[in-house]
Amino acid sequence: MLQQRTLKTLTRAVGVGLHSGQRVELTLRPAQPDTGIVFRRVDLPEPVDIPITAQAVTDTRLASTISAGGAKVHTVEHLMSACAGLGIDNLYIDITAEEVPILDGSSASFVFLLQSAGVELQKAPRRFIRVKRPVEVREGEGAQAKWARLTPYHGYKLNFEIDFDHPAVDSTGQRVEFDLGAGNYSRDIARARTFGFTRDVEMMRANGLALGGGLDNAIVMDDYKVLNSDGLRYDDEFVKHKILDAMGDLYLIGKPLLAEYTAFRSGHAMNNRLLRELLAQPDAWDIVTFDDERQAPSGFAQPARAW
Ligand SMILES: [Zn+2]
Repeated sequence: MLQQRTLKTLTRAVGVGLHSGQRVELTLRPAQPDTGIVFRRVDLPEPVDIPITAQAVTDTRLASTISAGGAKVHTVEHLMSACAGLGIDNLYIDITAEEVPILDGSSASFVFLLQSAGVELQKAPRRFIRVKRPVEVREGEGAQAKWARLTPYHGYKLNFEIDFDHPAVDSTGQRVEFDLGAGNYSRDIARARTFGFTRDVEMMRANGLALGGGLDNAIVMDDYKVLNSDGLRYDDEFVKHKILDAMGDLYLIGKPLLAEYTAFRSGHAMNNRLLRELLAQPDAWDIVTFDDERQAPSGFAQPARAW
């Protein structure tokens, strides 16, 4: 049986929120089978649980925000991406502020945290959402067009293409395909950092955003070039970060997908619209488990690879 996964033990991280600049502590704790992933705001007078679901996403400007019972958690996508990459099904995430810490701007620190705690296999079958027919969302025309699509696939594969019309971004790889079963998330995707442009950063700061952002947790560009003295971590770090984000955004549906995701210039808002479109068409998907691991997509039965 392909089993659900949680952590062996609890683990902690401290950092600052990218937008709030606020100090925040995270405690990741093991959870029982079929709990799913649940954020818990432990700083509020009464702790509030926010389970991840596509419908819990209430704001997608700049980052994915989830909320429940009047409580919010901003910028969940990089931590969710690490959970997707390592196949963590059940987890409590105690958090002491409104935003997940940005750490180094990628999901590598979260992968390291999860792997240090160790992954525990549980006595319950892992439940996948299997996409049975294509579902697509689209927006804009011509040069403004963007779209995202899920199609049936025995495994989980993502294809992303970017088009930023910026000299530093355009000189890098514009397109990436990543197959979770055949690839190595920790090595090939997790280290890709978020990125921003100085002209936007100034505007965001004036609006009380990006207060925790800087050269140690983002790739920052002026109108011509990358300002980080160490340059890029991958030749195609920008589009790889979009894959990292998409894996996090899509994991908010609450279960791993069996599908191929293909997107052109998509972002947090469109990724969430795609999930809602899928859920709105009950004949486009079903829930499957694998009693016999040999029936599962190749690579899915192995524990996530180390670095
Ligand atoms: Zn991101």
